[in-house]
Amino acid sequence: MSQMSRRHLMLAATGAAALVAAPRFVFAQAAAPAAATPFTLPPLTYPVAALEPHIDAKTMEIHHDRHHAAFIGNLNTFAKDNPMIASMSPVEVLGKLSDVPEAIRTGVRNNMGGHANHSMFWQIMGPNGGKPEGDVLTAIDRDLGGMEKFTTDFNAAGGRQFGSGWVFVTVDKSGKLAIENRPNQDNPAMDGKRALMGNDVWEHAYYLNYQNRRADYLKAWWNTVNWKVIGERYAMAKAGTLGV
Ligand code: MN
Repeated sequence: MSQMSRRHLMLAATGAAALVAAPRFVFAQAAAPAAATPFTLPPLTYPVAALEPHIDAKTMEIHHDRHHAAFIGNLNTFAKDNPMIASMSPVEVLGKLSDVPEAIRTGVRNNMGGHANHSMFWQIMGPNGGKPEGDVLTAIDRDLGGMEKFTTDFNAAGGRQFGSGWVFVTVDKSGKLAIENRPNQDNPAMDGKRALMGNDVWEHAYYLNYQNRRADYLKAWWNTVNWKVIGERYAMAKAGTLGV
């Protein structure tokens, strides 16, 4: 399909009003020829068994290689006819969902959110994760009442999430932290914040090992948290450079 006919499709899909309000998709599309499969599954940086016994290898393998891979496959399908969704970063797209053509908006919300959430999730876990220190610990003390209250409140929020979703520590542009739930695969970038860290409370994240014992999973999960990465993410958030 020619670039021009893609533009005509976009015009038809988004309507002139949306183009006037937010022309960035069109310019980005014209400037960057899209790859056939622009979205790729980020590899785990540790073995699938590295988080045992807290998260078992089979859960990690299915979660990463099948669940996250499904979001990638769906995004590549959307990108075939809507290359603009690959022309910006995931957090930029999630922050401007109203500009995404309505026909694919819910699909992009779910699958780009899933891609962003899981990309964050793999990053902020790992073996030998250390302890919080430096600026992020200062912020936890200041905004979340210290580590003991933070972990208690975070686990309570994860336990309260009805149905599928996430519990996040969000960070705003000033560096302020907050514990916030999101349903399904929604991501804090949808309202201008970033996920500093978060735990997946969809049943697929824990059911093989913990069945209905979500509270036990939430408690054990802290043993997998990589505080070095979270400290780096906090510095990036304050600098305005944190992506997923
Ligand atoms: Mn998941």
